[in-house]
Amino acid sequence: ARPLLTVEDLAVRFATEGGTVRAVNGLSFQIRRGRTLAVVGESGSGKSATGLAILGLHDRRRTQITGRVEFDGVDLAGLDERGLSDYRGSRIAMVFQDALTALSPYHTVERQLTDAYRRRTGASRRAACVRATDMLARVGIPDPARRVAEYPHEFSGGMRQRVMIAMALMGDPDLVIADEPTTALDVTVQAQILDLLAGLQAESQLAIMLITHDLGVVAGVAHDVMVMYAGRCVEYGPAADVLTAPEHPYTAGLLRSVPTLRSDPDADLTPIAGSPPDLLDPPSGCAFHPRCDQRLRVADDLCASAVPPLVPISSGERFRACHLALEGSVTL
Ligand code: SF4
Ligand code: MG
Repeated sequence: ARPLLTVEDLAVRFATEGGTVRAVNGLSFQIRRGRTLAVVGESGSGKSATGLAILGLHDRRRTQITGRVEFDGVDLAGLDERGLSDYRGSRIAMVFQDALTALSPYHTVERQLTDAYRRRTGASRRAACVRATDMLARVGIPDPARRVAEYPHEFSGGMRQRVMIAMALMGDPDLVIADEPTTALDVTVQAQILDLLAGLQAESQLAIMLITHDLGVVAGVAHDVMVMYAGRCVEYGPAADVLTAPEHPYTAGLLRSVPTLRSDPDADLTPIAGSPPDLLDPPSGCAFHPRCDQRLRVADDLCASAVPPLVPISSGERFRACHLALEGSVTL
């Protein structure tokens, strides 16, 4: 079957006062129905910009987007605002980190779940409310018939995030783009929300793009992982393989900084040295080279002069962009 979403050679550039920010640089990936792709990287790696670009949600006056975004056979990049609005919030829904800012404090949950839905479908208030109540039940909110009439501040953080997911489900999406959906929540509630997404996926073949800076939340929920650095994919592959045997020095560094995923849980947590790249003036060659502990293993300082291409390694299901010779595996 053809992938639900195919992104090809996506580039996103923002005009700022300091110059042009190259947020995404030639990114290609696919997501299939019923699969979860985790997009992982530090803040500024281009992962949120990628999610927003899929739906054309950037400010068009200062953003230049090139490349192809094909969703179920339609090139979204070629659609105007009106064309895109048929997809936003319906076939493709977004869930953001901070439900309290994404929801209006002045309207009831019912109103927020039903407004866009009624505009799109022409459903009566009553029918839309029935659907909203169903969706609240589906995301595990107790007593949904009563709670649908409440305001966002009456919900706990975890319950508010469930409301956001219920709102995403109102349009019966094929793809949910979830940008740091659990970052504001404590670990137990995080796990509940991720379980909820996995359950919904099992019911309806939902495709999920899970954007996160935290590799720890990826284990167990993502089928595939794309690790981003400075707007490029540096490593891609099945989640179980990437998390247990990273092939890119940056992925290995990220894993060393996650307590639950390290091979030796008693070793000290070691954050990656140095700071994320300046996207106004990114490092030459491999953008990770100023921070990379493997760079000296590559001859002729190639790391500082040439951008490493993303190439298949081992099984062909895995890819990495690094000048280390293929036999030169990364040591975790
Ligand atoms: Fe490190 Fe060089 Fe590989 Fe970049 S290309 S990750 S600097 S070894
Ligand atoms: Mg972000």
